[in-house]
Amino acid sequence: MFHFPKHSSLIMSILLLLLAYFLPSLFIRKIAEERETDRRQNETEQTTESQREFRGVIVVDCGHGGRDSGTIGAGGAIEKDLNLLYGKKLRTFLEEEGYQVVMTRETDQGLYDEDASDKKAQDMQRRCDRIKEAAPLLTVSIHQNSYPDPAVRGPQVFYYETSQEGQKLAASIQKELNDALTETNSREIKANDSYYLLKQSQGPAVIVECGFLSSPQDEALLVREEYQDRAAEAICRGIVEYLSGKAETIRESG
Ligand SMILES: [Zn+2]
Repeated sequence: MFHFPKHSSLIMSILLLLLAYFLPSLFIRKIAEERETDRRQNETEQTTESQREFRGVIVVDCGHGGRDSGTIGAGGAIEKDLNLLYGKKLRTFLEEEGYQVVMTRETDQGLYDEDASDKKAQDMQRRCDRIKEAAPLLTVSIHQNSYPDPAVRGPQVFYYETSQEGQKLAASIQKELNDALTETNSREIKANDSYYLLKQSQGPAVIVECGFLSSPQDEALLVREEYQDRAAEAICRGIVEYLSGKAETIRESG
């Protein structure tokens, strides 16, 4: 028969006591560690949240509005309405990226007074005033194109001819639009010296012509929500790419 040594029950009791003493303290320490991790995570999230608030302002200008319909497609699509749809979608994507978006218009209404003698001039001046007031990182004006030849298609971005930053921004957006929307016949960015908004804006400004309402194929695409989402997302990517490149240049030179 097997015999325990006499003191074995004493050793067992001590071991049990030690376990009873240390196990809860181990457990408590584990909870405290988890709480600390949670607290740090919260802090990081809050920092990201507050950094987001400071990523800067972008102006989204939806062309035309009110009495000024812009161009009208053969299928009946109206430029001013499409501009507003694309602009609002772009705003959503930019806000998700942490930018604050200022719209020059959010309804069908243009920016002119009903009794203004030159409504177009007043409308353009007020758009420029709003941009000046917002002092944005950049401005994107949304339009739909038109051309006598209905075979001409595709998105195209315009910049003010003497603006190097405008040209870089335009190239970045054009690349993303071409990648996302066109399989063939991608268009290239183009300089412009007469468009008032490009000329008068503070900071880089570009005009994004999402497509040609004079092309029945483009028009059919431009009115589709899935296409609008893809286009707005591509414009947003182009902007973010441009701004991140700019941030790198500043870091390198600083
Ligand atoms: Zn237009």
